[in-house]
Amino acid sequence: MTKIASASPLNIAVVGAGIAGLACANLLAEHGVAVTVFDKARGPGGRMSTKRLDQGHLDLGAQAFTVRDPAFKSAVADWGASGLVAHWPLISYQASSNGWQLHNDLPLRYSGVPRMSAITRHLADSFQTHPQTALQLATRIEALQRSPEGWQLQDAEGYGHGPFDYVVLTTPPPQTLPLVAPWDETLAEACRTREQRSCWAAWAVLDGPLPIPPGGQSDWQMARIEHPALRLVSRNQTKPGREQQPESLSLMAHLDWSDTHLEDDPQVVAESLWAAFTTLFPASTPLPARINSGAHRWRYAQPSTADDQLYLYSDSGLAMCGDSFTASRVESAWVSGRQLAQALVDRSVQNKAW
Ligand SMILES: Cc1cc2nc3c(=O)[nH]c(=O)nc-3n(C[C@H](O)[C@H](O)[C@H](O)COP(=O)(O)OP(=O)(O)OC[C@H]3O[C@@H](n4cnc5c(N)ncnc54)[C@H](O)[C@@H]3O)c2cc1C
Repeated sequence: MTKIASASPLNIAVVGAGIAGLACANLLAEHGVAVTVFDKARGPGGRMSTKRLDQGHLDLGAQAFTVRDPAFKSAVADWGASGLVAHWPLISYQASSNGWQLHNDLPLRYSGVPRMSAITRHLADSFQTHPQTALQLATRIEALQRSPEGWQLQDAEGYGHGPFDYVVLTTPPPQTLPLVAPWDETLAEACRTREQRSCWAAWAVLDGPLPIPPGGQSDWQMARIEHPALRLVSRNQTKPGREQQPESLSLMAHLDWSDTHLEDDPQVVAESLWAAFTTLFPASTPLPARINSGAHRWRYAQPSTADDQLYLYSDSGLAMCGDSFTASRVESAWVSGRQLAQALVDRSVQNKAW
Protein backbone atom coordinates (compact mmCIF):
# COMPACT_ATOMS: atom_id res chain seq x y z
CA MET A 1 0.00 0.00 0.00
CA THR A 2 1.26 3.48 -0.88
CA LYS A 3 1.34 5.80 2.07
CA ILE A 4 1.15 9.44 1.15
CA ALA A 5 4.52 10.93 2.11
CA SER A 6 4.15 14.49 3.27
CA ALA A 7 5.35 16.72 6.10
CA SER A 8 1.72 17.23 7.09
CA PRO A 9 -0.70 14.51 6.02
CA LEU A 10 -3.60 15.25 3.77
CA ASN A 11 -6.65 16.26 5.71
CA ILE A 12 -10.01 15.19 4.27
CA ALA A 13 -13.56 15.68 5.54
CA VAL A 14 -16.16 13.05 4.63
CA VAL A 15 -19.78 14.11 5.06
CA GLY A 16 -22.02 11.08 5.70
CA ALA A 17 -21.30 7.96 7.77
CA GLY A 18 -23.29 5.58 5.60
CA ILE A 19 -21.50 2.70 3.96
CA ALA A 20 -20.11 4.86 1.12
CA GLY A 21 -18.60 7.44 3.49
CA LEU A 22 -17.17 4.82 5.84
CA ALA A 23 -15.71 2.74 2.99
CA CYS A 24 -14.09 5.87 1.59
CA ALA A 25 -12.80 7.02 4.99
CA ASN A 26 -11.33 3.60 5.82
CA LEU A 27 -9.34 3.39 2.63
CA LEU A 28 -8.09 6.97 2.96
CA ALA A 29 -7.06 6.29 6.57
CA GLU A 30 -5.21 3.12 5.51
CA HIS A 31 -3.15 5.34 3.20
CA GLY A 32 -2.18 7.69 6.02
CA VAL A 33 -4.67 10.45 5.24
CA ALA A 34 -6.12 12.35 8.21
CA VAL A 35 -9.90 11.90 7.90
CA THR A 36 -12.84 13.32 9.83
CA VAL A 37 -16.29 11.85 9.12
CA PHE A 38 -19.37 13.91 9.94
CA ASP A 39 -22.95 12.68 10.16
CA LYS A 40 -26.12 14.42 11.24
CA ALA A 41 -27.44 11.24 12.86
CA ARG A 42 -26.54 9.99 16.34
CA GLY A 43 -25.10 6.76 14.94
CA PRO A 44 -23.39 5.63 11.76
CA GLY A 45 -25.25 3.60 9.12
CA GLY A 46 -27.43 5.93 7.05
CA ARG A 47 -29.77 3.77 4.99
CA MET A 48 -28.32 0.63 6.60
CA SER A 49 -29.71 1.73 9.96
CA THR A 50 -31.54 -0.66 12.24
CA LYS A 51 -34.32 0.37 14.61
CA ARG A 52 -33.80 -0.87 18.17
CA LEU A 53 -36.95 -1.63 20.11
CA ASP A 54 -37.39 -3.31 23.49
CA GLN A 55 -38.56 -6.37 21.54
CA GLY A 56 -35.60 -6.57 19.15
CA HIS A 57 -33.89 -5.10 16.07
CA LEU A 58 -35.72 -4.18 12.88
CA ASP A 59 -33.92 -3.22 9.67
CA LEU A 60 -35.81 -0.31 8.14
CA GLY A 61 -33.42 0.43 5.26
CA ALA A 62 -31.44 -2.21 3.38
CA GLN A 63 -32.79 -5.68 4.15
CA ALA A 64 -30.13 -7.77 2.45
CA PHE A 65 -27.40 -7.21 -0.12
CA THR A 66 -25.81 -8.80 -3.14
CA VAL A 67 -22.10 -9.47 -3.61
CA ARG A 68 -20.74 -9.32 -7.17
CA ASP A 69 -17.73 -6.98 -7.18
CA PRO A 70 -14.47 -8.88 -6.40
CA ALA A 71 -13.18 -6.30 -3.88
CA PHE A 72 -16.56 -6.23 -2.13
CA LYS A 73 -16.58 -10.02 -2.13
CA SER A 74 -13.27 -10.02 -0.32
CA ALA A 75 -14.52 -7.46 2.25
CA VAL A 76 -17.69 -9.49 2.83
CA ALA A 77 -15.58 -12.63 3.32
CA ASP A 78 -13.62 -10.78 6.04
CA TRP A 79 -16.85 -9.61 7.68
CA GLY A 80 -18.18 -13.15 7.48
CA ALA A 81 -15.06 -14.46 9.22
CA SER A 82 -15.69 -11.93 12.00
CA GLY A 83 -19.32 -13.05 12.32
CA LEU A 84 -20.70 -9.77 10.98
CA VAL A 85 -22.57 -11.10 7.95
CA ALA A 86 -24.36 -14.28 6.92
CA HIS A 87 -26.50 -15.50 4.05
CA TRP A 88 -30.10 -14.30 4.20
CA PRO A 89 -32.79 -14.91 2.99
CA LEU A 90 -32.79 -18.53 1.95
CA ILE A 91 -36.57 -18.95 1.84
CA SER A 92 -38.31 -16.19 -0.08
CA TYR A 93 -41.76 -15.94 -1.62
CA GLN A 94 -43.82 -14.02 -4.12
CA ALA A 95 -47.15 -13.25 -2.43
CA SER A 96 -50.52 -11.74 -3.31
CA SER A 97 -54.10 -12.10 -2.08
CA ASN A 98 -54.31 -15.04 -4.53
CA GLY A 99 -51.66 -17.05 -2.68
CA TRP A 100 -47.96 -17.50 -1.99
CA GLN A 101 -45.34 -19.06 -4.26
CA LEU A 102 -41.79 -20.00 -3.44
CA HIS A 103 -39.46 -17.60 -5.25
CA ASN A 104 -35.84 -18.48 -4.52
CA ASP A 105 -34.30 -17.61 -7.88
CA LEU A 106 -32.67 -14.47 -6.47
CA PRO A 107 -28.88 -14.07 -6.37
CA LEU A 108 -27.49 -15.18 -3.03
CA ARG A 109 -27.87 -12.33 -0.53
CA TYR A 110 -26.32 -11.42 2.81
CA SER A 111 -27.50 -9.63 5.94
CA GLY A 112 -25.65 -8.04 8.85
CA VAL A 113 -25.39 -10.07 12.08
CA PRO A 114 -27.12 -9.46 14.44
CA ARG A 115 -28.46 -6.42 12.59
CA MET A 116 -27.70 -4.66 9.32
CA SER A 117 -26.03 -1.74 11.10
CA ALA A 118 -23.41 -4.12 12.58
CA ILE A 119 -21.48 -3.67 9.32
CA THR A 120 -21.39 0.12 9.40
CA ARG A 121 -20.66 0.05 13.14
CA HIS A 122 -17.68 -2.20 12.44
CA LEU A 123 -16.45 0.11 9.64
CA ALA A 124 -16.81 3.13 11.95
CA ASP A 125 -14.87 1.37 14.72
CA SER A 126 -12.05 0.16 12.47
CA PHE A 127 -11.68 3.57 10.82
CA GLN A 128 -11.15 5.16 14.22
CA THR A 129 -8.25 2.82 15.04
CA HIS A 130 -6.11 4.78 12.56
CA PRO A 131 -4.22 7.81 13.86
CA GLN A 132 -5.56 11.24 12.93
CA THR A 133 -9.11 10.12 12.31
CA ALA A 134 -12.34 11.24 13.95
CA LEU A 135 -16.05 10.53 13.71
CA GLN A 136 -18.33 13.44 14.58
CA LEU A 137 -21.90 12.30 14.94
CA ALA A 138 -24.95 14.51 15.53
CA THR A 139 -23.25 17.13 13.37
CA ARG A 140 -25.30 18.37 10.43
CA ILE A 141 -23.13 20.17 7.91
CA GLU A 142 -25.02 23.15 6.56
CA ALA A 143 -22.47 25.12 4.54
CA LEU A 144 -18.98 25.00 3.10
CA GLN A 145 -16.60 27.94 3.08
CA ARG A 146 -13.37 28.21 1.15
CA SER A 147 -10.38 30.00 2.66
CA PRO A 148 -6.71 30.17 1.64
CA GLU A 149 -6.04 27.37 4.17
CA GLY A 150 -8.64 25.05 2.67
CA TRP A 151 -12.29 24.09 3.19
CA GLN A 152 -14.21 24.98 6.34
CA LEU A 153 -17.41 23.12 7.21
CA GLN A 154 -20.10 24.93 9.11
CA ASP A 155 -22.53 22.86 11.17
CA ALA A 156 -26.14 23.55 12.17
CA GLU A 157 -25.03 24.83 15.60
CA GLY A 158 -22.87 27.46 13.94
CA TYR A 159 -19.54 25.74 14.72
CA GLY A 160 -16.80 25.62 12.09
CA HIS A 161 -14.65 22.54 11.30
CA GLY A 162 -11.46 22.56 9.31
CA PRO A 163 -9.51 23.51 7.34
CA PHE A 164 -9.60 20.45 5.05
CA ASP A 165 -7.77 19.85 1.78
CA TYR A 166 -10.71 17.99 0.30
CA VAL A 167 -14.37 17.45 1.16
CA VAL A 168 -16.05 14.19 0.16
CA LEU A 169 -19.85 14.40 0.10
CA THR A 170 -21.73 11.11 0.37
CA THR A 171 -25.10 12.65 1.19
CA PRO A 172 -27.97 12.04 -1.24
CA PRO A 173 -27.77 14.62 -4.08
CA PRO A 174 -30.70 16.81 -2.94
CA GLN A 175 -28.86 17.21 0.40
CA THR A 176 -25.53 17.75 -1.34
CA LEU A 177 -26.82 20.42 -3.73
CA PRO A 178 -27.00 23.37 -1.27
CA LEU A 179 -23.46 22.56 -0.05
CA VAL A 180 -21.78 22.50 -3.48
CA ALA A 181 -23.93 25.00 -5.43
CA PRO A 182 -22.07 28.14 -4.28
CA TRP A 183 -18.71 26.63 -5.25
CA ASP A 184 -18.90 24.13 -8.08
CA GLU A 185 -21.43 24.27 -10.92
CA THR A 186 -20.37 20.88 -12.35
CA LEU A 187 -21.11 19.10 -9.09
CA ALA A 188 -24.26 21.15 -8.55
CA GLU A 189 -25.56 20.10 -11.97
CA ALA A 190 -24.71 16.46 -11.18
CA CYS A 191 -26.90 16.78 -8.06
CA ARG A 192 -29.78 18.34 -10.01
CA THR A 193 -29.80 15.50 -12.54
CA ARG A 194 -29.80 12.75 -9.88
CA GLU A 195 -33.37 12.72 -8.67
CA GLN A 196 -34.23 10.64 -5.63
CA ARG A 197 -37.36 8.64 -4.85
CA SER A 198 -38.92 8.38 -1.40
CA CYS A 199 -39.91 5.23 0.44
CA TRP A 200 -41.97 4.51 3.54
CA ALA A 201 -40.74 1.62 5.68
CA ALA A 202 -43.05 0.37 8.44
CA TRP A 203 -42.54 -2.14 11.23
CA ALA A 204 -44.85 -4.40 13.22
CA VAL A 205 -43.90 -6.50 16.24
CA LEU A 206 -46.50 -9.20 16.90
CA ASP A 207 -47.61 -10.98 20.07
CA GLY A 208 -47.31 -14.41 18.47
CA PRO A 209 -46.12 -16.18 15.33
CA LEU A 210 -47.89 -15.67 12.02
CA PRO A 211 -50.05 -18.51 10.72
CA ILE A 212 -48.78 -20.52 7.76
CA PRO A 213 -49.57 -18.47 4.65
CA PRO A 214 -51.81 -19.99 1.95
CA GLY A 215 -49.59 -22.04 -0.35
CA GLY A 216 -46.52 -21.20 1.75
CA GLN A 217 -44.53 -22.65 4.64
CA SER A 218 -44.12 -21.48 8.21
CA ASP A 219 -40.41 -20.58 8.00
CA TRP A 220 -40.57 -18.06 5.13
CA GLN A 221 -38.10 -15.20 5.56
CA MET A 222 -38.87 -12.58 2.94
CA ALA A 223 -41.73 -12.02 0.49
CA ARG A 224 -42.11 -9.76 -2.52
CA ILE A 225 -45.69 -8.57 -2.55
CA GLU A 226 -48.11 -7.84 -5.37
CA HIS A 227 -50.16 -5.02 -3.85
CA PRO A 228 -50.51 -1.32 -4.78
CA ALA A 229 -49.09 -0.16 -1.42
CA LEU A 230 -46.80 -2.92 -0.18
CA ARG A 231 -43.83 -4.29 -2.14
CA LEU A 232 -41.72 -6.31 0.31
CA VAL A 233 -41.99 -7.87 3.77
CA SER A 234 -39.18 -9.37 5.78
CA ARG A 235 -39.25 -11.24 9.07
CA ASN A 236 -36.48 -9.86 11.26
CA GLN A 237 -36.51 -12.80 13.69
CA THR A 238 -35.46 -15.09 10.84
CA LYS A 239 -32.30 -13.05 10.28
CA PRO A 240 -29.07 -14.51 11.65
CA GLY A 241 -28.45 -13.58 15.28
CA ARG A 242 -32.04 -12.51 16.01
CA GLU A 243 -33.65 -15.86 16.71
CA GLN A 244 -34.70 -14.77 20.21
CA GLN A 245 -36.87 -11.86 19.17
CA PRO A 246 -40.63 -12.19 18.56
CA GLU A 247 -42.33 -12.10 15.16
CA SER A 248 -41.16 -8.71 13.85
CA LEU A 249 -41.90 -7.52 10.34
CA SER A 250 -40.35 -4.81 8.16
CA LEU A 251 -42.92 -3.66 5.59
CA MET A 252 -41.57 -1.72 2.59
CA ALA A 253 -43.96 0.42 0.55
CA HIS A 254 -43.94 0.83 -3.21
CA LEU A 255 -42.15 3.98 -4.36
CA ASP A 256 -45.21 5.32 -6.25
CA TRP A 257 -47.40 4.74 -3.21
CA SER A 258 -44.76 6.43 -1.02
CA ASP A 259 -44.78 9.50 -3.30
CA THR A 260 -48.56 9.77 -3.01
CA HIS A 261 -48.47 9.35 0.78
CA LEU A 262 -45.26 11.28 1.45
CA GLU A 263 -46.79 13.73 3.93
CA ASP A 264 -49.06 11.21 5.71
CA ASP A 265 -48.76 10.69 9.44
CA PRO A 266 -46.34 7.78 10.16
CA GLN A 267 -48.95 5.91 12.22
CA VAL A 268 -51.46 6.19 9.35
CA VAL A 269 -48.82 4.76 7.01
CA ALA A 270 -48.10 1.94 9.47
CA GLU A 271 -51.84 1.09 9.54
CA SER A 272 -52.10 1.14 5.73
CA LEU A 273 -49.11 -1.15 5.21
CA TRP A 274 -50.30 -3.56 7.92
CA ALA A 275 -53.77 -3.58 6.30
CA ALA A 276 -52.09 -4.41 2.96
CA PHE A 277 -50.19 -7.26 4.61
CA THR A 278 -53.36 -8.78 6.09
CA THR A 279 -54.83 -9.18 2.56
CA LEU A 280 -52.21 -11.89 1.99
CA PHE A 281 -54.12 -14.18 4.36
CA PRO A 282 -57.73 -15.38 4.02
CA ALA A 283 -60.11 -12.99 5.83
CA SER A 284 -61.11 -15.81 8.21
CA THR A 285 -57.51 -16.35 9.42
CA PRO A 286 -56.88 -14.88 12.89
CA LEU A 287 -53.61 -12.93 12.93
CA PRO A 288 -51.55 -12.10 16.03
CA ALA A 289 -51.96 -8.61 17.47
CA ARG A 290 -49.38 -5.88 16.98
CA ILE A 291 -47.59 -4.89 20.17
CA ASN A 292 -45.40 -2.25 18.50
CA SER A 293 -45.77 -0.56 15.13
CA GLY A 294 -44.70 2.58 13.32
CA ALA A 295 -43.20 3.85 10.11
CA HIS A 296 -40.10 5.68 8.96
CA ARG A 297 -40.04 7.92 5.92
CA TRP A 298 -36.92 7.81 3.78
CA ARG A 299 -37.31 11.07 1.89
CA TYR A 300 -34.24 10.27 -0.22
CA ALA A 301 -34.44 6.48 -0.43
CA GLN A 302 -32.97 5.72 -3.82
CA PRO A 303 -32.01 7.35 -7.13
CA SER A 304 -34.77 7.34 -9.74
CA THR A 305 -32.35 6.12 -12.42
CA ALA A 306 -29.11 4.16 -12.37
CA ASP A 307 -25.92 5.84 -13.54
CA ASP A 308 -22.66 4.42 -14.86
CA GLN A 309 -20.37 6.86 -13.06
CA LEU A 310 -19.02 5.74 -9.69
CA TYR A 311 -18.05 9.13 -8.25
CA LEU A 312 -17.18 12.69 -9.20
CA TYR A 313 -14.37 14.95 -8.07
CA SER A 314 -13.20 18.29 -9.24
CA ASP A 315 -10.30 20.69 -8.95
CA SER A 316 -12.40 22.76 -6.54
CA GLY A 317 -11.44 20.24 -3.84
CA LEU A 318 -14.94 18.79 -3.62
CA ALA A 319 -15.92 15.21 -4.42
CA MET A 320 -19.13 13.17 -4.40
CA CYS A 321 -19.87 9.47 -4.13
CA GLY A 322 -22.56 7.12 -2.83
CA ASP A 323 -25.31 4.95 -4.21
CA SER A 324 -26.76 7.72 -6.38
CA PHE A 325 -23.78 7.18 -8.67
CA THR A 326 -24.64 3.65 -9.75
CA ALA A 327 -27.58 1.72 -8.37
CA SER A 328 -29.36 1.89 -5.06
CA ARG A 329 -27.50 -0.96 -3.45
CA VAL A 330 -25.24 -1.45 -0.46
CA GLU A 331 -22.63 -2.98 -2.73
CA SER A 332 -22.71 -0.04 -5.19
CA ALA A 333 -22.37 2.48 -2.37
CA TRP A 334 -19.37 0.62 -0.89
CA VAL A 335 -17.67 0.33 -4.30
CA SER A 336 -18.34 4.00 -5.03
CA GLY A 337 -16.76 5.12 -1.73
CA ARG A 338 -13.70 2.87 -2.09
CA GLN A 339 -13.06 3.84 -5.69
CA LEU A 340 -13.31 7.55 -4.96
CA ALA A 341 -10.83 7.13 -2.09
CA GLN A 342 -8.43 5.26 -4.39
CA ALA A 343 -8.77 7.97 -7.06
CA LEU A 344 -7.98 10.67 -4.49
CA VAL A 345 -4.95 8.75 -3.23
CA ASP A 346 -3.67 8.17 -6.78
CA ARG A 347 -4.17 11.81 -7.58
CA SER A 348 -2.21 12.95 -4.54
CA VAL A 349 0.64 10.53 -5.26
CA GLN A 350 0.87 11.67 -8.88
CA ASN A 351 0.59 15.38 -8.16
CA LYS A 352 2.45 15.39 -4.85
CA ALA A 353 -0.01 18.18 -4.08
CA TRP A 354 -3.74 18.87 -4.26
C1 LIG B 1 -36.10 1.31 2.40
C2 LIG B 1 -34.79 0.93 1.76
C3 LIG B 1 -34.54 -0.40 1.45
C4 LIG B 1 -33.34 -0.76 0.84
N1 LIG B 1 -33.10 -2.08 0.58
C5 LIG B 1 -31.91 -2.44 0.07
C6 LIG B 1 -31.59 -3.82 -0.09
O1 LIG B 1 -32.37 -4.71 0.28
N2 LIG B 1 -30.38 -4.14 -0.63
C7 LIG B 1 -29.47 -3.19 -0.98
O2 LIG B 1 -28.36 -3.54 -1.45
N3 LIG B 1 -29.73 -1.87 -0.81
C8 LIG B 1 -30.93 -1.48 -0.30
N4 LIG B 1 -31.19 -0.17 -0.10
C9 LIG B 1 -30.21 0.82 -0.56
C10 LIG B 1 -29.02 0.96 0.40
O3 LIG B 1 -29.49 1.10 1.72
C11 LIG B 1 -28.23 2.21 -0.02
O4 LIG B 1 -27.87 2.07 -1.39
C12 LIG B 1 -26.96 2.45 0.79
O5 LIG B 1 -27.15 2.20 2.15
C13 LIG B 1 -26.55 3.90 0.55
O6 LIG B 1 -25.38 4.20 1.28
P1 LIG B 1 -24.72 5.66 1.16
O7 LIG B 1 -23.57 5.68 2.07
O8 LIG B 1 -24.51 5.99 -0.28
O9 LIG B 1 -25.85 6.69 1.64
P2 LIG B 1 -26.56 6.86 3.15
O10 LIG B 1 -26.56 5.54 3.78
O11 LIG B 1 -27.80 7.55 2.86
O12 LIG B 1 -25.49 7.79 3.88
C14 LIG B 1 -25.55 9.20 3.80
C15 LIG B 1 -25.36 9.75 5.20
O13 LIG B 1 -25.30 11.18 5.10
C16 LIG B 1 -25.87 11.72 6.29
N5 LIG B 1 -26.22 13.12 6.00
C17 LIG B 1 -27.14 13.57 5.13
N6 LIG B 1 -27.11 14.94 5.11
C18 LIG B 1 -26.13 15.31 5.99
C19 LIG B 1 -25.61 16.59 6.40
N7 LIG B 1 -26.07 17.75 5.90
N8 LIG B 1 -24.62 16.61 7.31
C20 LIG B 1 -24.11 15.44 7.83
N9 LIG B 1 -24.57 14.22 7.46
C21 LIG B 1 -25.57 14.16 6.56
C22 LIG B 1 -27.07 10.81 6.56
O14 LIG B 1 -27.45 10.87 7.92
C23 LIG B 1 -26.50 9.45 6.16
O15 LIG B 1 -25.99 8.74 7.28
C24 LIG B 1 -32.37 0.23 0.52
C25 LIG B 1 -32.62 1.56 0.86
C26 LIG B 1 -33.81 1.92 1.47
C27 LIG B 1 -34.04 3.36 1.84
